[in-house]
Amino acid sequence: MHSLKAIIFDLDDTLLDTSGLLVPHAIHESCSELIHRGLKIKLNQCIEEKRDFAKSNSRINFFEYLVEKYADESLDPQTKKQLIRLGKDKFYNRKIKEPLNMVDGAKDFLSYAIQKNLKLFLVTEGAFATQKEKVEQLNIGSFFEEIFYANPENGENKESLFKKILNLYNLSGSEVLCVGNRVDNEISAGNHMQMITCLINTGEYNGLIPKSASEIPTYTFKEFKDLKEWFLR
Ligand SMILES: [Mg+2]
Repeated sequence: MHSLKAIIFDLDDTLLDTSGLLVPHAIHESCSELIHRGLKIKLNQCIEEKRDFAKSNSRINFFEYLVEKYADESLDPQTKKQLIRLGKDKFYNRKIKEPLNMVDGAKDFLSYAIQKNLKLFLVTEGAFATQKEKVEQLNIGSFFEEIFYANPENGENKESLFKKILNLYNLSGSEVLCVGNRVDNEISAGNHMQMITCLINTGEYNGLIPKSASEIPTYTFKEFKDLKEWFLR
């Protein structure tokens, strides 16, 4: 690890306990709205569906699944699309009212990495205002050299932002450790950039099975404590 110069972190379910703290509230609000618009499912059943869906190894968006399964069959595709958009909007683009906490050991690891003179970056995807609010509430901004908010509407994703970081900071992939919780997102993107990838296997999607070699992380740890121990070895 002597050549390591930087670490890129994911936010949701990597540094922040999103599944535990925010997902139940966001599901409640988004599903209530969809039920109000005619989705044929009860609210408690929606919450169970979300839990099962996260374990189902599916790669489609939850709201696409939910609307396809529970919307009135007579609805035209355009109306179904609107319902999906509404569900996503209520879920991702929400005002955070809950107090936020980091996952165990995350803040300690950030401090440790700074002491090791590593450059830290945060790359997160989602609604900009919501993601920014999470960072501010957690008060972690000062740990990072730079924070990147991926905006899919501008064609940005984790991979394009990883590429940007390598270029801007004159780093090669092998000098960067990419830490995240999704094999189908930042782990895959990091592997494509020849980074060292580390899956912190937490959150609701912790059972997601890699579907190709490019989704297999270099290392898998249950928690930050284990990642730190690996650094200390
Ligand atoms: Mg995540």
